[in-house]
Amino acid sequence: MLLKNIKMKGFKSFANQVKLDFEPATTGVIGPNGSGKSNIADAIRWVLGEQSAKALRGSKMKDIIFAGSEQRRPLKKAEVSLTFDNSDGELDIDYNTVTITRRVSKDGRSDYLINNNRCRLKDIKRLLLDTGMGKDAYSIIGQGKVETILNGQATDRRGLFEEAAGISKHKQRKEKAVDKLDNTKQNLQRIEDIVSEIE
Ligand code: ATP
Repeated sequence: MLLKNIKMKGFKSFANQVKLDFEPATTGVIGPNGSGKSNIADAIRWVLGEQSAKALRGSKMKDIIFAGSEQRRPLKKAEVSLTFDNSDGELDIDYNTVTITRRVSKDGRSDYLINNNRCRLKDIKRLLLDTGMGKDAYSIIGQGKVETILNGQATDRRGLFEEAAGISKHKQRKEKAVDKLDNTKQNLQRIEDIVSEIE
């Protein structure tokens, strides 16, 4: 699965629509300090569902909307789309090209879309599970992340390996099944209590 391109409009320093194409192999983004290189990584994280303004180097979520410059007035909304080549079928969806979009407006309205159809963040998380592309997965290694991984808890490191091995999905399913089982056990217990009361 290849990230083919990213489109940004109104996101941080990208007031006008900007589209960056990523070719197979390696793409490097170079530019002077403060020109917006890290904003591109922030945009990717944001689409993948980042909910923490701090993780996006802001103090409030609204900080991701273009705040204006000497030449331009502030904007009222931001929109970013990531387009993936899914011809290898890694994403469990019946399309060769998959576009994930997130948009937000200053009045607090927020939408997620998969191929232009509105969806929930949950759907995006489910789609990306075990692909390494989730917001906390290993495909985005920010400054200082390597150190955090090395110095962190063994259980956190294990999470990364589980995602790479493709077993996070099964772990989540197991947790749900165990929850259901617990509920069923409790219901059975209740029924047994009622039956013994009647007897
Ligand atoms: P460095 O090489 O120093 O790490 P960089 O190229 O990674 O820099 P970024 O950190 O991506 O640069 O971009 C910082 C720029 O983005 C700053 O000029 C900042 O003013 C601008 N910026 C951040 N948020 C907004 C916003 N909401 N509206 C307008 N500009 C913004």
